[in-house]
Amino acid sequence: MIKKLGVIGAGQMGAGIAQVAAMNGFSVVLNDIEKAFLERGIQRIEKSLSSLVKKDRITDNDRNAALNRLQTTIGLEPFKDVDFVVEAVIEDEALKLKVFGQLDGMCRPDIILATNTSSIPITRIAAATGRPEKVIGMHFMNPVPLMKLVEIIRGLATSDETYKVTEELAMAMKKTPVTANDFPGFISNRILMPMINEAVFALYEGVGTAEAIDSVMKLGMNHPMGPLALADLIGLDTCLAIMEVLHKGFGDDKYRPCPLLRKYVDAGYLGRKTGKGFYTY
Ligand code: NAD
Repeated sequence: MIKKLGVIGAGQMGAGIAQVAAMNGFSVVLNDIEKAFLERGIQRIEKSLSSLVKKDRITDNDRNAALNRLQTTIGLEPFKDVDFVVEAVIEDEALKLKVFGQLDGMCRPDIILATNTSSIPITRIAAATGRPEKVIGMHFMNPVPLMKLVEIIRGLATSDETYKVTEELAMAMKKTPVTANDFPGFISNRILMPMINEAVFALYEGVGTAEAIDSVMKLGMNHPMGPLALADLIGLDTCLAIMEVLHKGFGDDKYRPCPLLRKYVDAGYLGRKTGKGFYTY
């Protein structure tokens, strides 16, 4: 029975996952490497909960109860008694492997360790632990409180029981689970990220301005957001990291990241989170 969830990384995804778990009655331990990052994560959660209250989606009591279910930590010590972990650190394979090794040593051997990775093979992350049958991809969408989908990805060794428990948890968090197999980018980013990368190429080559590219996709294809605005929301560092995984994983140059995307990341223009990306915030 899952009562207490551990979340690693208090960035936009980790904070969102912690918030939705707390809103649905789970106790949550939220971890990051610095106090300032945890504070930023909690502020993000408070802001999102308050906006849900304003829209009459939840009551003041719901908001306060959710906040009371959240605990933050810099060390991993409180993960000794969590019942399920979702990892949401930055999209960096070496870091995720290290974190999974640490989690494997700290957490009870019976619990599932899930990763919110956008693209890194679950099978490889699972191999960094002594419990590969209990490692799974649980890929939430951004912003987590608003988006219904959770893509669930089985690694080579993931057991049926692990899949079932993860699927039930996604539903308990009022999300709709969809299964994908363990290929680079899974379903969502196999399709989304090459489209975003192509939009960056269109900008790079001068096919259109950022506004024109986004307007064509919104007005002409009925997308709720243009691909460049969406890239800014996701984070250009995350977009680049996913393109690198697709490029390396398939060994096919059709997935090569656009040089302009790389240049923006080099400049520290990461999108909304830094106030500048394809647009200024
Ligand atoms: P982010 O940069 O907003 O947050 C990452 C957080 O991880 C930061 O707060 C950072 O301090 C923390 N962190 C780094 N190293 C850590 C460590 N060793 N231990 C604990 N915390 C650590 O990134 P994000 O957008 O939240 O993405 C997180 C993950 O979710 C990535 O794997 C990403 O691919 C995936 N994801 C992102 C999106 C999106 O739209 N941004 C959507 C789905 C999945």
